[in-house]
Order: sequence, then C-alpha cells, then structure tokens
Amino acid sequence: MASFEECVSFPLRNCPLFTEKNVILKAKQLETLRALYDNQDCISILPTGYGKSMIFQLLPWFSQCKYAKDKPMTAIVVSPLNSLMEDQVRSLRKNGIRACCLNITGTHGFTFNEGNIDTDPELEGDDEELQPTVVQCDVPFDELKNGEFTLVYSHPQALINTKFSRVLRSQSYQEHVCAIVIDEVHMVSEWGDEFRPAFKRLGEVVCVFDSTFHLLLTATVTPKSVQDLTKQMCLHSPIIVSENVDRPNIFLDVRNRIPNIHKFEKYDDLIEPIASERKTKKHLFPVTIMYVESLEAMGYFFQYTSYALQGDSYDGDDIPENRIFAQYHKDYPDSMKQVILTELTKENPKIRLVLATVALGMGVNAPSVDRIIHCRPPTTLEKYLQEIGRAGRLGQKSTAVMYFNKNDIAKNRKGMSEDMVLYCNHKGCLREMLVNHFGFDRCVFSGPKEDCCSNCKSLVLLHD
Ligand SMILES: [Zn+2]
Repeated sequence: MASFEECVSFPLRNCPLFTEKNVILKAKQLETLRALYDNQDCISILPTGYGKSMIFQLLPWFSQCKYAKDKPMTAIVVSPLNSLMEDQVRSLRKNGIRACCLNITGTHGFTFNEGNIDTDPELEGDDEELQPTVVQCDVPFDELKNGEFTLVYSHPQALINTKFSRVLRSQSYQEHVCAIVIDEVHMVSEWGDEFRPAFKRLGEVVCVFDSTFHLLLTATVTPKSVQDLTKQMCLHSPIIVSENVDRPNIFLDVRNRIPNIHKFEKYDDLIEPIASERKTKKHLFPVTIMYVESLEAMGYFFQYTSYALQGDSYDGDDIPENRIFAQYHKDYPDSMKQVILTELTKENPKIRLVLATVALGMGVNAPSVDRIIHCRPPTTLEKYLQEIGRAGRLGQKSTAVMYFNKNDIAKNRKGMSEDMVLYCNHKGCLREMLVNHFGFDRCVFSGPKEDCCSNCKSLVLLHD
C-alpha cells in the first residue's frame, strides 16, 4: 500500500485543481488526512476560510493512490445547502473535474457545462458584451451508478429512501466510493428536529459504507455536540481535529442599542453613522455586511442610505450594477444577488455596504469583507461565530460589531440561547469567553488589549 506521504502528494500532482498551483497543505488538513489514512473516523472543526473543502476535494485522488486504483474514486459530499453545492460543482467543472449534484429527491444528477450564449433564446437581441455562460444539464443515472463522477454532492434527503439510496447499497457502487463526507455538520443538531429530518438519518448512510472514509466537517461546534454527532452519525471513536476558533484579526465589539419602543430612533441610531461614514470615506469605507433584523428595517436603512448619499449613490453611471450599497434577502432577484456576490469577491468592490438578512450566508466567498455588523444578536454563539467569520478572510484587520437591547436577548425570543445572553452582558474579555465556549483554553490573539474587544479596550481607556 502507498505510504501516507505518497497519498498526500498524489492529488497535488494529479488533480487538475491543484497541479497549476503551488499548494502546501496546512497542519490540520494533513492531520485530517492522516486520520483517514489510518482508517479512523474523523471530525474536523476548522474555521471558515481554513480550507475544509480542499480536504474532501482531494480525497478521490488520495484514495486512488492508497488503494492503487486506475482512476480517482468517488467522494460523496453531503451538504444542507444548494447554493454551496452548486457553487462548488460549477468551479470544479471549470477545472475539468467530474463533479455533479444529486437532485433533492435522489432520482437524477445534474452538473454544469460552459454554454454558448448565442444559442440562448432568452438573450437574443441583447447587444451586451458576450460572456461565457454556465448551463445546468442533467446527468444520466447510469453514469452516476457506474461511478463516473469523482465528487457527488448531495442533500441529506437525496440519500434516504430514494432511487439513489438503492444504488448506494449496491456492491458495485460501493467499490467506487472512497468517502462519505458531511459538510456543515453542525446543522444536524441545529436544524435536525424540525427542519431537516433526513439529516438526522445520515447515520444510516454512514453505516452502509462501513469501510470508506467517514469525515464530518464544520466551523463551529461545541464539545457537547461532538458527542451527539458521534452517536447520531454512527462513528467509531472519531479523531477530532480542531483549530482554535479565535480569529485574531477580528476586533469584537458589542454595543447597546435603543429600546424597541423607539423604533425609528432605534433604526436611525444604527444607520446614521454608517450612511455618513459611507458618504465621507468613499472608497476607503470598509467593506461591510450589515445584518438587519427584518425586511422592514432593511427597507428603512436602504431608503435612509439612498437619501443620505443622494447623487453619491453610484460609482459611475446611475445603473443598479453601479450602486455602492445593496440589499440582499431571500426574495431578491437571483441575478442581483449574483452581482453582489461577484462584487464581494473582488479586491476592491464597488458595493461596499450590503444590507442583508441571514440569506447572505454560509459558503459565501467574500474575502474583501472587512466588517460585519449585527443590528441584533443571532440566537446562538455558533451562528454568531459563523457570521463574523465572513470578515477578514484575507487576514486583514476587521471588525465585528453587534448591537443589542433588552428585547433582543429576552428569554421569549425564539431560539435565544443562554450563552448569547451571557455574551451580550459579559463584562470581561469577549474573545476569551467565545473561545472558551468552543472548548479552547486560550486565545490565538496576542496583540495590544485595545485591539482585542470592546470590553478590553474600554478597560485600557479607563486606566489611561
Ligand atoms: Zn478582549
């Protein structure tokens, strides 16, 4: 059998995703691979942006080398989010990798190919610059069955009591499969009961593939949930690989806001400083995602900002694509959502303020984001950590500001966790509390106190 070192270097030399780049695997990626190589189940808890996807994307080649197969094997990646799966499949296809998604009912697969814009009837007569487009296309079930795809992305539902779940049980298919990967696994406990019953039954799928790699991935999970997951997912004494959740480049700032009875004063108090900062700082305005509590608040903030900026609302001609601030919510047109997401991947985006609901969420690749503002706390510290983790992805100095009032952290708010209440009212170091909550003894941060969190900073100011 090939050595561990051979198995690690094989994908880097043979998988088109990595061959062009000078990829060096990080310590925790290697630790995860090591556990799998040793046939241990593994739960890897790594912060957003660490490179979790890379681990499973190289598994088909890793196992090809380990088991001396003549082609890459198949990794099945379970994820609860369409957007996340589709984005990955699109980008894998661009790199020439055989990747596809299963449809939610597990009856067929689909993937993405470069389309020809000329043949798209909807765009006829449109004289805009021609751009390559990506079209979705079906994958014949037989190709799926014959293991012709190296990465198969699936909803939990698609694997439970479906046409595809019968394929999973066949001996011939199992010979192709090297790994069952469950991504964003914290959702099993978070959404499990009410939202995604199938997620809880994933343990059955894990059991079917007794001799393949079992890998669970997440950015945020507490030690208690690790135990629950191990049981639910039928893992055998898994190796836990974890990187400290602390993000030393993010300043943590918790502030009071005006009580709910003064609704519009409360809104004004939140948006006024942002709108005027946006106006004065222009291109130096930190790229900001501002999570708002409701569509009403979003509408109000959007109008307020438009009014405050007047003629300065656009970078270039007055067309929607040039607006320097944007709103993002579930029912917003997909085409506009895409414009925003594309802008946020740029180093110097035109859109520097996005008013958003949590629909702007997981899997969003927005390296330029410098600041996250929560107008109201999320209900759990897990969600909070996920959401602030969208700032500072390139290591740049960033800020996470969270506002709260008594209503926001009232016991009767649905889903409100005791830990979030404690965090909001905490008088000591916020970073320390957050890091402890996720089971670590100490922070990674080692800079001056005033760069740590709002509580540490105010102590410094007090003593000065
Ligand atoms: Zn602190």
